[in-house]
Amino acid sequence: MTRRLGKGEKLVIASHNRGKIREIAALLAPWRVEVLAAPDLGISDPEETETSFAGNARLKALHVAGVAELPALADDSGLEVAALDGQPGIYSARWAETGAGRDFRHAMARVHGALCEREAPEPWRARFVCALALAWPDGDCALFEGEVKGRIVWPPRGDRGFGYDPIFLPDGERETFGEMDPARKHAMSHRAVAFARLKAALLADS
Ligand code: IMP
Repeated sequence: MTRRLGKGEKLVIASHNRGKIREIAALLAPWRVEVLAAPDLGISDPEETETSFAGNARLKALHVAGVAELPALADDSGLEVAALDGQPGIYSARWAETGAGRDFRHAMARVHGALCEREAPEPWRARFVCALALAWPDGDCALFEGEVKGRIVWPPRGDRGFGYDPIFLPDGERETFGEMDPARKHAMSHRAVAFARLKAALLADS
């Protein structure tokens, strides 16, 4: 059974991404937990050495919960392309690395280039995955996963969203995540599904 987070209880977000911290704080606002950020407590991220989204989320949450001696929440997410055996997967952010910093046009071109190189037949099935881990200082940890299925399109479409959004067309939609109204994306995304599961578990026990 998932332990619940009580009102007023402190929760540390195990991330150094300010956008992610803000988004998570907004999603948790109705639960009135006191949201803290790992960097504000002087806690650094551990190296992501696991081989799955869930493993890395768990690793980050347990590390921060142990150091802060408070419950901690971490997320790990990315894009899996079926014809590329799940790549870029946990290396989604790394595929964007260039000598001059992160560039997702470069990452999207890499995905397309790899599909062409393999002569993978269309449709290019893909999914976004998000793993959320909520850990307690005693080593207890609950995991919640969300996914959204779709396919890769080329060329990229739309300049909304971020990362791989312009080449991801969710099933049943006509617009890519890059073209879609952000509110629509946020209602159906892998992150939204994982958060709904986390909230349902927290609420069920409250
Ligand atoms: P993380 O912050 O280490 O979990 O890296 C996740 C990476 O996966 C991001 O840098 C993006 O490249 C990609 N990603 C995750 N979620 C999305 C999304 O909703 N849209 C586009 N790209 C995403």
